[in-house]
Amino acid sequence: MKLVLDPGHGGHDPGAVENGLREKDLTLKIALYTRDYINELYEGVEVYLTREEDDFISLSERAEFANRLNADYFCSIHINAGKGKGFESFIYSGSYVSKSKTQALRNVLHDTIISETGFVDRGRKEANLAVLRLTRMPAVLTENGFIDNPSDAAFLKSDSNLRKIALAHAHGFAKAFGWNPKKKVQTKEKTSDGKLYRVQVGVFADRKNAERLAEELKKKGYPAIIV
Ligand SMILES: [Zn+2]
Repeated sequence: MKLVLDPGHGGHDPGAVENGLREKDLTLKIALYTRDYINELYEGVEVYLTREEDDFISLSERAEFANRLNADYFCSIHINAGKGKGFESFIYSGSYVSKSKTQALRNVLHDTIISETGFVDRGRKEANLAVLRLTRMPAVLTENGFIDNPSDAAFLKSDSNLRKIALAHAHGFAKAFGWNPKKKVQTKEKTSDGKLYRVQVGVFADRKNAERLAEELKKKGYPAIIV
């Protein structure tokens, strides 16, 4: 299955800015963490990002990217603004053949994110948003807290909370699509006290370098993972 994650905004478009936070930075972190969690926890899923850096990409390009890939699901990740508080999710408001499927998938994702993050639930919504209208597969847009609400902003300032939001997305997709958890590769090495020792072979500031080494290790038969 192919999943496209779409970190909102980027480049000259920062999105909402308040309380020392920029929407474009938060959405990118959440998307990258979500991809990491999915790659670590589930098998049979290919995750693609519409951007992996601070680039400007138009809304239609984002949708075309997913359409070209013939993706199975599209999830755009945003942070809200406008003096509200909490989490809401959107699907396309028009009438279309796959709407009931789109609703069902969204409901599972929405409920999982609410229960795992503790965000105030602002509800499951519909809107005529370009990335939702232009994508040909079921699509959702998540608004993960309000950048201009003091308590949401304080929550979003913590990297571990961004990871929590990302993990909730990963769990939500897995529940919605019935993804299989990855089998633990080293169970036979488990010691009698249940501890598991792993060997780390590299630490990198640039993810591409980590990916290069992981590929090399995999070619040599080692089950490398990047965390
Ligand atoms: Zn946004």
